[in-house]
Amino acid sequence: MTKPASERVVAIIGAGPAGMLAGLMAARSGAQVHLFESNATAGRKLLVTGSGRCNLTNAGIAPEKYAGSAKEELNQLFAVFGREELLTLLKEIGVPTFHTEDGWYYPVSESAAAVADALTAALRTAGAAFHLSTRVVGLERLGRGFRLRLDGGAEFTAPRLVIAAGGAAYPSLGSTGALFPALGELGHTVRPLRPALAPLVAEMRPFQRLQGVRLDARARLLRGKTTLGETYGNLIFTPWGLNGPAVMDLSHLVSAQPAEDLTLSLDLLAGPASAVRELAVTARKSDLPLRVLLQAALAPKTAQFFLDEARLKGDTALRRVPENHLQQLLGRLGDVRFTLRGVRGFEYCQVTAGGVPFEEVNPRTMESRRAAGLYLAGETLDIVGPCGGYNLQFAFSSGAAAGLAAGLW
Ligand SMILES: Cc1cc2nc3c(=O)[nH]c(=O)nc-3n(C[C@H](O)[C@H](O)[C@H](O)COP(=O)(O)OP(=O)(O)OC[C@H]3O[C@@H](n4cnc5c(N)ncnc54)[C@H](O)[C@@H]3O)c2cc1C
Repeated sequence: MTKPASERVVAIIGAGPAGMLAGLMAARSGAQVHLFESNATAGRKLLVTGSGRCNLTNAGIAPEKYAGSAKEELNQLFAVFGREELLTLLKEIGVPTFHTEDGWYYPVSESAAAVADALTAALRTAGAAFHLSTRVVGLERLGRGFRLRLDGGAEFTAPRLVIAAGGAAYPSLGSTGALFPALGELGHTVRPLRPALAPLVAEMRPFQRLQGVRLDARARLLRGKTTLGETYGNLIFTPWGLNGPAVMDLSHLVSAQPAEDLTLSLDLLAGPASAVRELAVTARKSDLPLRVLLQAALAPKTAQFFLDEARLKGDTALRRVPENHLQQLLGRLGDVRFTLRGVRGFEYCQVTAGGVPFEEVNPRTMESRRAAGLYLAGETLDIVGPCGGYNLQFAFSSGAAAGLAAGLW
């Protein structure tokens, strides 16, 4: 028999993308939803995503793109609520989307604030109650339900609880990881929290002149001769290291081990820049200046840096460059090595690696396998995706699945 509405209470900790989707789904199923959020507004972190444009999801969503325990089970989660379900829901609540040529999805408005506003409005229409500026400072099992302790001393009890309190990334936006000890007390494993999608810190003295240079490269993370990870994408040289998607997508691997064992190798002649190698063959016997050859793909500043390093003159005709000098130069551009020092801290990273292992929840309902009536969603779990909308998709999917299940009596 269906429970009376007064007993179908779902408490949700965190009104980020995961908590808001959980709340919307549960409220639409007829449950009484109470969202507890320490910030004064919902979706505070959402506002900064995609540099304020909100990169919502990606055409390439697939379990193998993610890192984390039992990530192959993400198939089951995405079968319940995947990219298409997300796009349909967003459109329905007033957020039509488009995608770039490389498959990154954004709202047509290109406004993260508009997405947060539409989600908040949909939640209010569905009857969800927001408890803003309210931090949950403790929680415990109470019979078959849960008791939340709120700052200010009040308590709240509910038979079902969704924890969507995020991880420890970017703590100034609300999530600090403070609830993980309570999750441990409820029977969950909590893997050490590490920065992910973080800039890499590296020895940059040899590359000082390249500060501010932005380029596309293939990046390989090496421990000795073993390749731990490989990406291709954009990056920027900074005084303290390297930033941008190509290196951020490797950072969860860097933060997982002692940095002194790790090296980063950049191939500056990968992708379209391989045109330099082709031109070196076709123009080998020509008067093409060496500088012009490199500038076929590299910015003049970058080309000059590597010419100076190799003690080669840029206006030398290609036909006059000794073969071994040319091959050494091309070899160097294909394997620029950096000694890594680690990753920048939680204040500078976009997501958290570690947390509660995904294998400790049912991937179709996000219900805890340790505590009945408890649901986990979003960054609280140990799933990490690359740049490009993968993390928001996981937050939305896991939140929606949790809300669908928690709202059903
Ligand atoms: C600068 C930046 C840019 C990003 N850009 C993108 C992007 O373009 N695309 C993408 O896919 N991902 C992006 N991400 C990652 C994305 O924002 C996260 O994956 C996503 O926000 C995780 O959602 P969540 O709901 O799990 O956690 P959060 O968004 O962290 O939400 C958790 C909420 O819980 C609240 N909370 C925490 N503890 C308590 C408590 N004890 N009591 C009450 N409330 C609490 C917090 O205040 C917070 O509002 C970006 C992240 C950053 C930092």
